Amino acid sequence: MRAALAAVAAAIVFAPLQAIAQTPMVPYFGKNQIRYTNFRWNIYTTDHFEIYFYPEEEQHLERIAGYAESAYQHVSSDLKHDLAFKVPLIIFKTSSEFQQENVIPGAAVEGVAAFAEPERDRMLLPLDEPPDLLYRTITHELTHIFQFDIIPTSLIRRNLPLWLNEGGADYEAGYWDPLDIMTVRDAAVADIVPKMSEMEGYGGFNNPRLIYNLGHACYERSASSRSATRSAPPITAATSRRIRRRRRSSRRFPRSRRRQAI
Ligand SMILES: [Zn+2]
Repeated sequence: MRAALAAVAAAIVFAPLQAIAQTPMVPYFGKNQIRYTNFRWNIYTTDHFEIYFYPEEEQHLERIAGYAESAYQHVSSDLKHDLAFKVPLIIFKTSSEFQQENVIPGAAVEGVAAFAEPERDRMLLPLDEPPDLLYRTITHELTHIFQFDIIPTSLIRRNLPLWLNEGGADYEAGYWDPLDIMTVRDAAVADIVPKMSEMEGYGGFNNPRLIYNLGHACYERSASSRSATRSAPPITAATSRRIRRRRRSSRRFPRSRRRQAI
């Protein structure tokens, strides 16, 4: 019975998003994706996650569960929000196996280190990263799951600015890559930092990371002001009630030479 339930749960969790697969703009999107492996999925349940793994990953389970629960405590505490469901966390042993995922066929392209999808609040990532980077990646993607829950994408009518989602996720991950901080300094020196109200999409910048980094910087600025004034953080359940009346979020998948969480 337990095995049958696990099989049904796995079938639901791994069901591809039909709306995305059937998008008329890209009728062959993902259809030529090569599948090398039939993964034998199992479920490991923790306080806040359902971790989907296959037997070759079992030795990593406790470590990943520890990272995920630590990330949950951090993000939940900072955003003052709890999730009413366990987050499906789908892990792959290697990046090449991650690229065979079929949750959003074609999303795990080269250069993408992980992703979260808003329809069923699933997180997908490979494990072949150094421990500190892996923890940050989990924190980044988990922040998106919180964002999806606080600002339901099905109820709002336009895109959230990309900097808001990605800047928030990078801020919660709590780390500045030296190259990233350099892009912010360069933008400031070149006087090309746009007004917040104009920061839509990738902001017209050639470097897709810049909008992430400017968003990250905005959150840091807000946090430092907040610590002085004790005002509310940028995204909370309270502020989302205003936002959810008028905005819709969509996910974008930038490509770059560096692997990055999106
Ligand atoms: Zn992201």
